[in-house]
Amino acid sequence: MEIKKVGVIGAGAMGSGIAQLFAQNGFEVTVRDIKQEFVDRGIGFIDGTLARSVSKGKMSEDDKAAIMGRIKGTVEMADLKDVDYVVEAAIEDLNLKKDIFKELDELTGLDVILATNTSSLPITEIASATKRPDKVIGMHFFNPAPVMKLVEIIKGHLTSDETAKTVETLAEKMGKVTVMVEKDEAGFIVNRMMMLQLMEAIKIYDEGIASKEDIDKAMKFGLNHPMGPFELMDFTGIDICYLVNEVLKKELPRELKHTTPYSLKATVRANRLGRKTGAGWYDYKK
Ligand code: NAD
Repeated sequence: MEIKKVGVIGAGAMGSGIAQLFAQNGFEVTVRDIKQEFVDRGIGFIDGTLARSVSKGKMSEDDKAAIMGRIKGTVEMADLKDVDYVVEAAIEDLNLKKDIFKELDELTGLDVILATNTSSLPITEIASATKRPDKVIGMHFFNPAPVMKLVEIIKGHLTSDETAKTVETLAEKMGKVTVMVEKDEAGFIVNRMMMLQLMEAIKIYDEGIASKEDIDKAMKFGLNHPMGPFELMDFTGIDICYLVNEVLKKELPRELKHTTPYSLKATVRANRLGRKTGAGWYDYKK
């Protein structure tokens, strides 16, 4: 099925960015939130972002009008009846997402792929609320969705390869770089690693080892991160960081301790120390 009409659930930070991205790429988008004021805020946010692009000369008024013309806001789930593809970006709550997917399953055509932008929740369990678990998948954008290049594609336990391929092609068509996460394990790739680092930043601060400003400075100037961990948490939403970390703590308790991974120990003992010894995690001998 050719995807032309896209439904987006949630008009918050992510939903509005995802709606903008699809509309910029020529898709007709219907974005649904629970209150008209949330819908208006989300669409207003898109309008403001595009207006800045126009004033910087990166986009014409006509292009902006065309993009805005492709975005419709609604509070009615029924308005998503005819869409060809859905991305859900409501708040990070498993029961809420399961309810949404059950409703979408009953509402949309049977061949429609239902994707979730969840940061940490199990795709497999969200899919279990539907009769089409092979067509439920994680499509994890980063904030702001129109700007950030990466999309993590996460296969639930029953997601078909065909569904994964369709989502990969769709994301790449919109200029995104994709990675395939083969197993539905909490945190996927980026958040699993990033949350550990954010929690350590908080611990360093709590222990009085350094100020928040200096921790941010250290990561920016020592590791070339564009933002320090505290700045990043503020940008992402500290509530989201908290919720994601709670899920990771429950699902991956071992990951939150600084135990030495076996492969790290073994690699060092084998004197595979990196480029200087000709091999480390990768092989540099030609
Ligand atoms: P947000 O709080 O900005 O927006 C969530 C929106 O969902 C709100 O406007 C809320 O009213 C709406 N909503 C709640 N219930 C709904 C329902 N039943 N139907 C439709 N809309 C509903 O949150 P956000 O930052 O946009 O995050 C949304 C999702 O994206 C979460 O699952 C989050 O984990 C994930 N995510 C967030 C980020 C980030 O950096 N903020 C990055 C990647 C993924």
